[in-house]
Amino acid sequence: MPGRWEAKKLSQVQLYDTTLRDGAQGEGISFSVVDKLHIARKLDELGIRFIEGGWPGSNPKDIEFFDKAQNLALTNSVLVAFGSTRHPKGKAETDANLLALADAGVKAVTVVGKSSVLQVTQVLETTLDENLSMIADSIEYLKAKGLTVFFDAEHFFDGFKADSGYALRVLMVAAEAGADCLVLCDTNGGSLPDQIVAAIDAVKEQTSVPLGIHAHNDGELAAANSLAAVSAGVSQVQGTINGYGERCGNANLCSIIPALKLKIGIDCVTDEQLARLTEVSRYVSEMANLVPDVFLPYVGSSAFAHKGGIHVSAITKWTDSYQHIDPARVGNQQRVVVSELSGRKNIIYKAKEMGVDLPLHGKEVQKLLEQVKWLESRGYQYEGAEASFELLVHRAKPDYQPPFELVDFMVVVEKRRRPSAQKSLEEMLSEAVVKVRVSGEVMHTAAEGNGPVSALDQALRKALLQFYPSLAQVKLVDYKVRILEESVGTGSSVRVLIESSDGVNEWRTVGSSTNIIEASWLALADSLEYWLLKKKASPGSTKVDSL
Ligand SMILES: [Zn+2]
Repeated sequence: MPGRWEAKKLSQVQLYDTTLRDGAQGEGISFSVVDKLHIARKLDELGIRFIEGGWPGSNPKDIEFFDKAQNLALTNSVLVAFGSTRHPKGKAETDANLLALADAGVKAVTVVGKSSVLQVTQVLETTLDENLSMIADSIEYLKAKGLTVFFDAEHFFDGFKADSGYALRVLMVAAEAGADCLVLCDTNGGSLPDQIVAAIDAVKEQTSVPLGIHAHNDGELAAANSLAAVSAGVSQVQGTINGYGERCGNANLCSIIPALKLKIGIDCVTDEQLARLTEVSRYVSEMANLVPDVFLPYVGSSAFAHKGGIHVSAITKWTDSYQHIDPARVGNQQRVVVSELSGRKNIIYKAKEMGVDLPLHGKEVQKLLEQVKWLESRGYQYEGAEASFELLVHRAKPDYQPPFELVDFMVVVEKRRRPSAQKSLEEMLSEAVVKVRVSGEVMHTAAEGNGPVSALDQALRKALLQFYPSLAQVKLVDYKVRILEESVGTGSSVRVLIESSDGVNEWRTVGSSTNIIEASWLALADSLEYWLLKKKASPGSTKVDSL
């Protein structure tokens, strides 16, 4: 295999993203036209050569996308429209799907055709010769329109296994019709790397037209198969961000890009573009409304997270001792996870990372470690809530003065019917009353909100704003609740994660309780306390307004 890499002209790999078409076929994923336009812009920034925007012949949303994408002004990427070959026994010139492709306003198109005998006879239900004509007619029609045409040979590797003669014949027909790239598809995702390489070697004996790879991940080998294909001489690599796609997904470009660039030395993107990979991965999961997979290689938040005490001890001595690349290359970062498995080193490292000046062997460290373990057993988790952890560290210092202290709170949730001629004017109202101590003075405030958490937030702010007016900048940007089945002995606990922002910085805090309101209250209070701590705010004049 190493010989193959050396033989390869290393600059020739073109990245082809199909997140917006194949990726959108993943279960639970639905992109709006606006989402697709945003993602296309991100992919352009990442340096993706080709962006497959959708299938204009299959739905109006994709037609609208291509229409609006005209204004995207992409700098690195070329938009590609996707479609199938003409219908059996039809004519290319009158085929609605091909007309939509030609009208999509793009310079490049991808046409998918069948390359497996069984798929032609059993699924397409036509003759093997007619399938060849469909492929030839369709490609010739689109080439005559002046388009760059990529041919996706669907089920190629399965077809090659069953009847290599026909599978190769399909490719030759596409090549003769003028296809600019023959993309070999492992559509069912079941091939092994050596099978991919053997089939590509056979194709290369027949044609010099550039080849591409489109792998699915059903055998968890999509990335490996794609890299094997590159080693065998393929120049176009198709995949999706985060590996989204049908069934188990497509080849994950977030794994393939850094492997090509950092392991093999193929400059498919620039260093700066590679450093945006993690950001793009998380952006796309946000758009897909899917929780980011923390365990994704390279871009997951656990990809460079160290939890075991021995590992943490090692990385404090040699930062790369337990990681395969520098996470900064892909825009990710090393993290030390604090947990019940942690040793003293984790706590010390974490505190150091946060710039907290703790005595390294003091009793505070041991106390803090015990406290973290106890809190984690109660459902707390600091892995996604660094701000709450930092507060814990500060609170472990004997001279720590909190900017405020929670005394107690009360929340009322009420369903009210408003007298009105119109229907359905029932509404949910929440009211919170809180007591907070600031500078020895107990503040007692009340506020309404559209839910119990927002009512608590309003009431707490009402109290604190009198002392700390700058707190008005702090906004809650995300609120997540998780039910913790794993907690034993305390009933089922609820963990609330809150993300806050002051317009410049973002931070996350956590609260845990068997009661969702209390969990929210604790996370909320941590968020405000953290910000005040960071701003080194001290209480201003106390002009107390009544309720
Ligand atoms: Zn596919």
